[in-house]
Amino acid sequence: MNSSIYDRYRKCSLCPRKCGVDRTQGKLGFCKATSEVFVASYMVHRFEEPPISGHNGSGTIFFSYCTARCCYCQNYNYSRGRYGKSVTTPGLTEIMLELEKKGAHNINLVTPSHYIPSIIEALDIARLKGIKIPIVYNTNGYESEEAIDMLNGYIDIYMPDAKYSDDKLANKQCGFINYSKHNIAALKKMRKQVGDIKTDINGIAERGLLIRHLVLPGYIENTRGVLRQIAKELSNKAYISLMNQYSPIAQVKKDPNLKRRLTAEEYKKAKAYLERLGFLNGWVQD
Ligand code: SF4
Repeated sequence: MNSSIYDRYRKCSLCPRKCGVDRTQGKLGFCKATSEVFVASYMVHRFEEPPISGHNGSGTIFFSYCTARCCYCQNYNYSRGRYGKSVTTPGLTEIMLELEKKGAHNINLVTPSHYIPSIIEALDIARLKGIKIPIVYNTNGYESEEAIDMLNGYIDIYMPDAKYSDDKLANKQCGFINYSKHNIAALKKMRKQVGDIKTDINGIAERGLLIRHLVLPGYIENTRGVLRQIAKELSNKAYISLMNQYSPIAQVKKDPNLKRRLTAEEYKKAKAYLERLGFLNGWVQD
């Protein structure tokens, strides 16, 4: 075990919340995760963006707990609490190797921020055991710059959300504090490490940054702000996945906007703004 990496659990500042708790002693911060890793599920998943899923699928590992509390979360069960199985670091490596053996194009770490030390250790072992496929870091985008520095050299493809330009909305809906500042700083670091998306001859991603934005019903100005920030602070050459699949859950049935799906008209406006800002790379949904 790499004790200096594992020590990062002791006065936890793995995400911008900087709770400062000793998770190795079972103390809980905002995310409520101790240093014991819980994997909610893992599978070869075929419904990510085309260069991530490819023809074989993406080797997706869903972690329990989350550094956010989005009221509309699609993974409510395992983002809010202990769910699935406790895994050791070598156990996490074995899951990665199993997914590679099943033909997955990559290892896709979903909601990983609160387990970075264990993930780094698992990747060190996976490398010794000869893992070859790219590693994808699939996050809500609320990352500390220090955490992204820790991941340098371990992650091939960053797939962060850029959820909010409106910090008040980010706080109200997900409990984020200063989301846009932390998000943009993290996206810049990620792009510096891995560049824009590069694919192999079959169109499968090998390396790069793919930024996701889920358009929320009733909040088109937030979407416009997110796209403006990316164009200004990174580049309009960045790869964007503009998603329209928002689906209301029971917990938001009283919210006048979030209780419904996105309309075709709203998504059309989001796509038009993407084009207006000159973004040419990425994916939209029809
Ligand atoms: S990872 Fe969890 S405990 Fe650590 S700073 Fe973030 S929310 Fe707090």
